[in-house]
Amino acid sequence: MKIELKNLKKTYKGGKTALKDISLMLASPSLIGLVGPNGAGKSTLMKLLTANFLPGSGEIRIDGLPLTQQEHLLKASLGYLPQEFGLFEDLTVTQFLDYMAALKGIERKVVKDEINRVITLTHLQDKRKAKIRTLSGGQKQRVGIAQALLGEPKLLIFDEPTVGLDPAERVAFRNLFAEAAKNKLIILSTHIIEDVQSACDHLIVLSRGEICYIGTPDALIEQKSSPSLEAAYMALMEGRDNA
Ligand code: ADP
Repeated sequence: MKIELKNLKKTYKGGKTALKDISLMLASPSLIGLVGPNGAGKSTLMKLLTANFLPGSGEIRIDGLPLTQQEHLLKASLGYLPQEFGLFEDLTVTQFLDYMAALKGIERKVVKDEINRVITLTHLQDKRKAKIRTLSGGQKQRVGIAQALLGEPKLLIFDEPTVGLDPAERVAFRNLFAEAAKNKLIILSTHIIEDVQSACDHLIVLSRGEICYIGTPDALIEQKSSPSLEAAYMALMEGRDNA
């Protein structure tokens, strides 16, 4: 899968320009970390990529075709964990995943196996029959990640996936994302530098709606004092301090 963003701009109704002029090319397989201070435009960029809303101007192309012509394809091959993720509190974990599988159009005959697979990946085996309202914040976050993994989507977009997870869970998820990224395109936003440093092969640093760095995490961290990378490194650190 290849995603091209060309001169993307997004201004919200109140007049706030969240993204100024974003041009990017993303291709699988890759695990891309999206970082930057609060308000930098990370969630807005993720929502545009998931066709949640349209850009004010500019264009998104998936495998060469405009996103607007492929919304159906994108939804079928997309796993998305938004920042505010509404779970149905009265459903059990299995019921919720079954519902999400139906929304994604996963074939009924493979649903059970697929739910078992994502429950195992997210270590929720002993919570299958628990109502979502009884889960801890970290367990709910794991259910959110589990639903995104349903159907083995080619594109995974996670907005702050490791929020609420304890350090051991975070390490487990970093390993899971790194493994999954071997044949997918994964974009995740995070405040946690260790997430990007150890797992991501690419880093995009956003600041005030603009890209200030694209490259490997190591190159940015190693050359943080070079004049061209100083501002990007500061934005990376500012994102961490906002957490
Ligand atoms: P980040 O995810 O990096 O914190 P966001 O994409 O959420 O940044 O926000 C970028 C900017 O757009 C911020 O200034 C934010 O206040 C503004 N913004 C985000 N969502 C809306 C909205 N629905 N309406 C108006 N302004 C918004």
